[in-house]
Amino acid sequence: MILLDGKKTSEAIQQEIAAEVAQIKENGGKVPHLAAILVGNDGGSVTYVTNKVLACEKVGFGSTLIRYEDDVTEEELLNKIQELNESEEVDGFIVQLPLPKHIDSQKVLEAIDPKKDVDGFHPVNVGRMVAGLSTFLPATPAGILQLLERYEIPTDGKNCVVIGRSNIVGSPMSILMAKAAYPGNATVTLCHRNTINLPHFTQQADIIISAVGRPGLITADMVKEGAVVIDVGTTRVSDATRKAGYRLRGDVDFDSVAPKCSYITPVPGGVGPLTIAMLLKNTLKAAKREVYA
Ligand code: NAP
Repeated sequence: MILLDGKKTSEAIQQEIAAEVAQIKENGGKVPHLAAILVGNDGGSVTYVTNKVLACEKVGFGSTLIRYEDDVTEEELLNKIQELNESEEVDGFIVQLPLPKHIDSQKVLEAIDPKKDVDGFHPVNVGRMVAGLSTFLPATPAGILQLLERYEIPTDGKNCVVIGRSNIVGSPMSILMAKAAYPGNATVTLCHRNTINLPHFTQQADIIISAVGRPGLITADMVKEGAVVIDVGTTRVSDATRKAGYRLRGDVDFDSVAPKCSYITPVPGGVGPLTIAMLLKNTLKAAKREVYA
């Protein structure tokens, strides 16, 4: 069994990005710049955004963090988005989700210029992904593709079962794994809450990608010998022995499943660390005008 080390892979990608930024600077080119909009003070969101901004500094990008209180109006947010769309300095930007209930998240996401939509959530970029055109891929599925590629895991003709159909992870993952590409070319089954007899599908899978958020959902009896298991789930479960009072658990019952696998991601330290690296990669692509010429 080989552990898919997301931390190491993410560091390698960030080093590659940093080297490219150094080269851009040396050539007198435009330094990539990421802006992030954060609304409110939710602990998780503050940590995620802070880490994204810190990662920008580490690779030599410029970054701007724009913060609003929970009571920000939708109009204020839309005005700021318009400003960022028109900014010469900002190459790409994100709006950290979730937003407060009085704000229409979809309206906000659709206000972002697709050319600067480095989260890849705008319907134009989703459509481009489905059509196989150059686009900004959403960070989590893109990170999983990087893991498969960098560990040279065969995907061609394999049975791939994706569990979870969210717009940010499961659905795009299922589309990407079915593309005529590497990683891809897999025969994909997309399972979700309404799937009857989930084990029937997972037992036939060469590759399982679980993005649900239910600790212990995938048990050893559901996994065939030699399978590749990618665990996207990250759920906080209380743990009095930890300083924070909680620990993160994936969807996969790691201890019993790991011995059966050829490759498996740990939680934490698997898929998670790759998401920031892929956001940086998208920002670099935006700065280089690689997606929309
Ligand atoms: P989500 O929007 O809540 O989607 C979860 C999906 O799982 C839904 O499609 C849901 O079905 C399905 N589901 C729920 N219970 C199920 C069951 N018993 N059997 C089969 N399918 C079931 O979540 P998400 O945003 O995709 O995130 C999924 C997990 O990944 C969460 O733990 C999240 O924290 C984690 N995550 C991690 C990263 C990372 O960087 N590591 C990034 C993003 C998300 P319905 O569609 O019917 O509701």
